[in-house]
Order: sequence, then C-alpha cells, then structure tokens
Amino acid sequence: MIGIFGGTFDPVHYGHLRPALEIQQALGLDEVRLVPSLVPPHRPQPHATAQQRLAMLNAAIAGDPAFKVDTREFHREGPSYTLDTLKSLRTELTVAGICLLIGMDAFREFSSWHRWREITDYAHLVVMTRPGMPPPEKGELADFISLHRVTDVATLKSRASGLLLFHAVSQLEISGTQIRKLLASGKRADFLLPDSVLQFIRSEGLYGTGKPHDE
Ligand code: ATP
Repeated sequence: MIGIFGGTFDPVHYGHLRPALEIQQALGLDEVRLVPSLVPPHRPQPHATAQQRLAMLNAAIAGDPAFKVDTREFHREGPSYTLDTLKSLRTELTVAGICLLIGMDAFREFSSWHRWREITDYAHLVVMTRPGMPPPEKGELADFISLHRVTDVATLKSRASGLLLFHAVSQLEISGTQIRKLLASGKRADFLLPDSVLQFIRSEGLYGTGKPHDE
C-alpha cells in the first residue's frame, strides 16, 4: 500500500515531511509519493515555477526510501484534480491499496473538491488530525465520515480503498506562506525546512532572497 500526498510545495517544509513520514511508518506504507500540483484549483498560483518546486522536493527527499516524487500532474492539461491523479495511478500501480494523505484543514473543505464522493472509489482517505481542529459534526461531511470511518490501521489495510482514518501526527506550525514571508523580509527560515531546500532557494534567488534588504 502506498501513500499519496499532494500540495503546492512552495516550498516543501518539515510540516509536510514529518507528518507524512509518521503516517508512512504507522501504516507500514511502501512509500509516500509527494505529488506537486501544476494548477491548484482552490488557491492562488504558486510563486516558484513547477521545475523549481520539483527541484526542491527532490533536494528534500534525496536518498530517502520512504519518499518518491510523482510529477504526473505536471503533464496534464487543465486543473490538477486529485480524482484524475488517483485514476491515473490506479491504472499503473501494481500495489493494491492507495492512501490519500490530507491535513484536517484540507479535509474540512473536502466536499468542495471536484467529484469528491468518487475519491474513495480509488483510495482510502487518511486525515492527519490536529488538536483544536475537530472533524465536522454536521452536514454532508459528517455523513461521509459515519459512512467511511474506521478506527484502526488493520481494518484500513484489509481493503484497497473506500475507508477513512483519522490519525494524529506531530504538530508543526509551519507553512509555505510563513517561510516565504520570512525570506522576503530578509529573515532566516533555517530549521523550518531542509537545508538542501534552503540552499536551492538561495541559489535561485527565490521568494525575494535575491533582493537586498534593509536590515
Ligand atoms: P501555503 O502556506 O503556501 O498555502 P502549505 O505550506 O500550507 O502552503 P501546501 O503545499 O499547500 O502547503 O500543503 C499541502 C498539504 O500539506 C495539505 O494537505 C496541508 O493540509 C498539508 N500541510 C501543510 N502544512 C502542514 C503542517 N504544518 N502540518 C500538517 N500538514 C500540513
């Protein structure tokens, strides 16, 4: 069984990598594939180019067998819909199960995703939970939870798709936005993301690192 973790990764940081590794270990996944999106439908366009975001992902995971980078969304026209990514993975994967990893913040918006109810036809949903952000208790997402939820890893692994698991991960208050702001104002972002990624950012002058600052 493999994990799929999509995002803009603008840039990739420890708030992505540590929770993804914890899920990989807890579920015994063969690997977690990091899938950078080309045109995220729900949000402003990324600051770094697709090639730069890919280079940062490769720098971050270099040599780590728990992770792979999957660029299939770069090769598709139009918006990066998760459903299309899962369908395309299904046709080529030899492993049985797919777990789609998402943060609780993203899960709370899940019913606005393109054809969201079909996503569990192709994968399990593994929601990385955080204190102070409970799952919805009313509405269509609450109904979806009661229909699909399981509470243990063994049950999840007994099927290839269709189930929902909430799993607690280390809480790291790190975001791409925060890192871009720090760098744009001439401050250091060390220890929020891998050094190799920071080095790439500086070598490309990304996020304002190439500009002179007052301080
Ligand atoms: P930005 O600040 O640019 O909006 P971001 O850092 O939140 O970006 P994305 O690449 O858009 O990162 O995130 C993709 C996925 O990673 C989402 O499912 C999101 O919930 C999850 N994620 C991002 N940051 C964290 C974090 N610190 N802890 C847990 N999950 C995270």
